[in-house]
Amino acid sequence: MSKDASDSSARSDAKGEGDATDEGSRERHPLAMETLVSLCAARGFIYPSSEIYGGIAGFWDYGPLGVELKNNLKAAWWRRMVRERDDVVGIDSAIISHPRTWEASGHVEGFSDPMVDCRTCKRRFRADQIEGERCPEAPKKRAISDCDLTESREFNLMLRTELGASVDESTTAYLRPETCQAIFSGFKRVRESARQKVPFGIAQIGKAFRNEITPRNFTFRSREFEQAEMEFFCHPSEAEHWFEHWREFRLQFHKDLGFDERLLRTRPHAADELAHYARAAEDIEFLFPFGWQEIEGIHDRGDWDLSRHTEYSGKELAVTDEQTKERFTPMVIETSVGIDRTALALLVAAYRQETMENGEERTVMGFHPSLAPIKATVLPLSKKLAERARAIHRDLRKHFNVFYDEAGNIGRRYRRQDEVGTPYCVTYDFDSEEDECVTVRERDSMNQERIPIAGLKRYLTERLEEAS
Ligand code: ATP
Repeated sequence: MSKDASDSSARSDAKGEGDATDEGSRERHPLAMETLVSLCAARGFIYPSSEIYGGIAGFWDYGPLGVELKNNLKAAWWRRMVRERDDVVGIDSAIISHPRTWEASGHVEGFSDPMVDCRTCKRRFRADQIEGERCPEAPKKRAISDCDLTESREFNLMLRTELGASVDESTTAYLRPETCQAIFSGFKRVRESARQKVPFGIAQIGKAFRNEITPRNFTFRSREFEQAEMEFFCHPSEAEHWFEHWREFRLQFHKDLGFDERLLRTRPHAADELAHYARAAEDIEFLFPFGWQEIEGIHDRGDWDLSRHTEYSGKELAVTDEQTKERFTPMVIETSVGIDRTALALLVAAYRQETMENGEERTVMGFHPSLAPIKATVLPLSKKLAERARAIHRDLRKHFNVFYDEAGNIGRRYRRQDEVGTPYCVTYDFDSEEDECVTVRERDSMNQERIPIAGLKRYLTERLEEAS
């Protein structure tokens, strides 16, 4: 394992130093990252991967609540991007592609960051991220730029692996650094099998891997992460129209996740920032505790991808307009969102601390109900009432992710649910035995309503569906 991967433990990733890209912007979300990182570990949202070995930088595990949050986010994306549209279809491609893919895409040649090594402490830094940063090893925390640094050299971010038993250049493969390339190589197959005509899009959600030189800011910059990408193929004359369409559509998606509009902004890329394939790009940014940072990119990739794959594979990927008989290579508008970065933004936005009327404090994760990991928790007021309460739980869990909790006083149990963002608590009490009703408490208002057990499923369905 390299020095880089082994010695900066996953815990130090979480501290929340600013990324170089936010230099110049001093605006920060007021939440302390340490507070969120501790809550995430304590409640089972996210914790360091291989924690008992001290963690491994850039890798994170999602616990029982984290996986539900992430699955709900992915389901919302899939519903909005694939199921609700006639002009987008979904796929799920292999993580490893033919190595020629990465030559065609330009990644073998150009997917790199500039890197410098410190000759004294042997640490490695991204050359474009050291300005204003202090060396974590030097006794007086001197500026990294004052350390004894090597010349900057390019470091390819793709993670390599070997296929098969013999190890030589011909067996080298890469863990994909982005999910979209299989969409381009599968373009013809998907278009024909799904009987789609340009303009249309292909979407997928999946893991991507980048050997980031300095993974940091908790899950924000990881080495393994998930992307949800959609590539929309259109006639060259319509590229601008579709770029606008997708930018608006994607921004609305983030607003609908419940983000306060003051925490979102869009930022067009300057010409010198554009990736090798891009004709235009705009980021959707979120205000994190470490500044404004990208959570999604909307890119006009031109005909770069299909042209390059045509050239490298020798397979024609152009299409013919049925009406005009014009033959053309479609342009691509891409929307690429990080699931982990958006999940982190959801956690940041959800966290709040409140003083209740009785003077007690409570921590609330105010997730949008459609994203909340647990939708409702069933609480018997006394263990004597457990049997009936468990029956209600059994019935509801067929429809939603419902939790059951009989431990501790009712106030403490409510606090526990507030802290993980459960929108509804269903209390079964002694009166329930007589009136066949339960008390439903709503997380944010803390209002309580008496609801017939027979109508409980409908009550919750209506509220959860209305919110989604
Ligand atoms: P950055 O400039 O922050 O490295 P990028 O511009 O390289 O990001 P893209 O290649 O456009 O990112 O990837 C699309 C999305 O994938 C990003 O908006 C982000 O949400 C996510 N993403 C990219 N790199 C990482 C990473 N190392 N960890 C987590 N998510 C990532």
